[in-house]
Order: sequence, then C-alpha cells, then structure tokens
Amino acid sequence: MKYFGTAAYEGIPALFCQCESCKRAMLLGGKNLRTRAQALLNEEILFDFNADTVAHYQTYRFDWTKIKYCLITHSHSDHLYPEDLIMFAEPHYSHNVSQIDFYGARSAYDKMKEVFSSPAADSSRARITEVKPGDLLQLGENRVLVLRADHGPESTPVIYAVEDKEKKRILYAHDTGMFTNQVIDEMKRLGRFDIVSLDCTGTYAPTGWDHGHMSLRTDVLMKDRLLKEGLADDQTTFIVTHFSHNELHGHDHEELSEEAAKYGFLVGYDGLEVEA
Ligand SMILES: [Zn+2]
Ligand SMILES: [Zn+2]
Ligand SMILES: [Zn+2]
Repeated sequence: MKYFGTAAYEGIPALFCQCESCKRAMLLGGKNLRTRAQALLNEEILFDFNADTVAHYQTYRFDWTKIKYCLITHSHSDHLYPEDLIMFAEPHYSHNVSQIDFYGARSAYDKMKEVFSSPAADSSRARITEVKPGDLLQLGENRVLVLRADHGPESTPVIYAVEDKEKKRILYAHDTGMFTNQVIDEMKRLGRFDIVSLDCTGTYAPTGWDHGHMSLRTDVLMKDRLLKEGLADDQTTFIVTHFSHNELHGHDHEELSEEAAKYGFLVGYDGLEVEA
C-alpha cells in the first residue's frame, strides 16, 4: 500500500496558516509536508479522489491503466473532489483511458453520478456503484467489506476493509471516530488484518476525539480492541495518518514518530509504502 497524501482537509502546511506547526513544517520540509489523504493498494485500488490527485499523479507517476477500482470513503472535498472527476468523465480532458469502477455511499455516489450524467460525459468510462455499510463486494480477486464510519453524516461516511488476491487484509479507516461494537462484529466477516490504517486527526489531543475522527489516545484504544477481538496480532502493521496542523502542537514528523512508536504505530507520510 502506498500513501500519496496523509493530511486532513487543510494539508500541512495549511493554506494561509502561520501557526507553529505549519511554520515548522515549512521550514523542515521533507516528511513534514503533507497533502490530502489518498492511498493506492496493489496499484489497483485507489482510496479516495481529492483535489491533490493531480499532484499525486505527477509526484508518484502511478499507472492509471492499472487502477481498476476507486473506493470513495465520503463526500468531503478532501476525499472526493467532483470538479476534477470531470477530467475523467469528459473525453475532451483525457484520452485513451481505461475504465475505472467507482464506489461510494449515497452522498458520494450522487456527486459522482452527476459528473457522469453531464451531456459532455462518456458514461462508459466508469461504472458507479452505490454502497451501504454491511456490503461485501467482490472486486476482481479482491473482497471489499463496507463499514459504517462515525463522521459527518451528511457526507455518508464509510470505511473499507479489503482482502486482496493473496488474502492479505487491509483496514483503511479514515474520517471515523472509534469503532462501534457493531462495526467490530462486521469486521469479523473478513477476519484478522495485516495492515490497519487509523485516523489520527486529533494527534496529540489529551482528551476527546472519540467521535468524528480519532487521536493517538483513541487509536491506542482501537488498537487494543482489535487485538483483543482477534482482528489484529503482533504481526499486524498499524499506521496512523490523516493529520491536522491544529493538533500537531508544533511537533515535527520525527517527534511524532517517536511518540507513536511508544504505542506500536508507524506514522504515515506522503510517499510511505507498506508491505503486508
Ligand atoms: Zn478527511
Ligand atoms: Zn497551521
Ligand atoms: Zn471528512
């Protein structure tokens, strides 16, 4: 799995912002510079499609013709940016493309459908499927479990658990608060994860962040829960990502990595590749 972007909506440094975290990130550069969240699994499954996708393509030079599926978590603009999807839908903007199948719950589905229903769009370029929490999809040789996320309900948020053709299992859990008992039970339909990617928007916050997003504190609670339920073990790689400048409290990537390592977490950064 390759991480293209590891920030929340604002990016780090955030546009306009002169806070300590942003000023430090700008000074240090490297892994401290974070674009909006996006990741690619086995060159085939793209998680989310935000406004940084053009920059990700130019930086990481991935092969669009290998991407068969795009799983949209929810309709917030740092995860789905329909204005740029027009470039795929309308043949005027992109040529000789391969078909991509897009998946999203109601709000994301509606926004994607609208793009492809324009008279200028070529609807044969994409298949758009509405998903619901509890769906277990067969995408080629992958199984994809759709789970309910605890996040802004108007964005119809879901998270995805993927079992790939080698039976490796990946949980991509961003823009969600803590997993409910029902979600934990649903996860057992796939079983133990090899990679768990957790939301860490609240990073250093000492309290809260149970709902909407998580922090290092609540990620530790979720890690312990997954271990206790048999959904992870000491071979599972845990990654925290989707960071916000607001909760970095002036810390840089190295300091954050040291803190996260205490709890057995890798800190996501733009360009990180993780092998299961
Ligand atoms: Zn987000
Ligand atoms: Zn800032
Ligand atoms: Zn969101």
